[in-house]
Amino acid sequence: MTKPSPLNGKLAIVTGGGRGIGRAVAMTLAARGAELILLGRTERSLKTTAVDIRNQSDATVHVRTLDVTDGDAVDQTFSGLIAELGPPAILVNNAGGAESAPFTALDRDNWDATLAVNLTSVYACTHAVLPAMIEAGYGRIINIASTAGLEGYPYVAAYCAAKHGVVGLTRSLALEVERKGITVNAVCPGYTDTEMLQAAIRKIAATTGRSEADARDELAAANTGGRLVRPEEVAEMVAALCGPAANSVTGQALEITGEDS
Ligand code: NDP
Repeated sequence: MTKPSPLNGKLAIVTGGGRGIGRAVAMTLAARGAELILLGRTERSLKTTAVDIRNQSDATVHVRTLDVTDGDAVDQTFSGLIAELGPPAILVNNAGGAESAPFTALDRDNWDATLAVNLTSVYACTHAVLPAMIEAGYGRIINIASTAGLEGYPYVAAYCAAKHGVVGLTRSLALEVERKGITVNAVCPGYTDTEMLQAAIRKIAATTGRSEADARDELAAANTGGRLVRPEEVAEMVAALCGPAANSVTGQALEITGEDS
């Protein structure tokens, strides 16, 4: 018997879909029946993920290189995709990144770049897709925020500010579109086992003299479950927010911090 596919035929855009959490989200949505559009700057990783998706399911996958901090490129890419493929049902704003520095060393370029990739990109991609969703009367927008969108962490002021901004945008837009068939939610993972975390671990080890293993253990211990979150766990929550059980869930910022299991 074939498994039910709750997202059958739904067109889903995932920014930063080539690796890490975005890749896991893309694989999971495709396994639930969605047709995928993967966006990111690195064609190679996007294509590798597309091949892996096609190998696991018969999902259709499209790949476009895009720097989500380039507003004009976002508008052009999204309008081209919508003209070609129709209104996307799902937008997962996942692209992001963090660099740590004490606030006194956080220069204006670093601040601007961090807000551009983590916050303004969410505005730009959402702005580019929302009219088509409104016209279609259906949309699921999921923003990958962070626990740094709900509480402060030292040495990442710009990242925390950006992710708090993502949560605020989520809550505001959810109210604006709540009668239009569109839900807007954020997921807020704790430390999650990806390349971004690995880079953070290397930096902690280099700046403190601790071993990478110790740094990794310390970050894992900061999560509720005492372990790193797996990208697939974030992906499951995103898929759930896209599915019928979450039709009445909007404006939420859901923490994913790893239950001990
Ligand atoms: P990775 O560094 O593994 O992946 C980041 C992804 O974002 C890549 O696919 C990258 O692709 C893409 N990306 C980065 N900058 C741009 C850009 N300018 N334009 C287009 N795509 C871009 O990180 P994670 O998977 O860990 O992070 C994914 C999201 O999850 C981020 O928003 C992050 O803030 C958030 N998050 C991560 C946590 C963690 O502990 N790992 C915890 C909480 C939230 P490419 O470089 O090819 O463009």
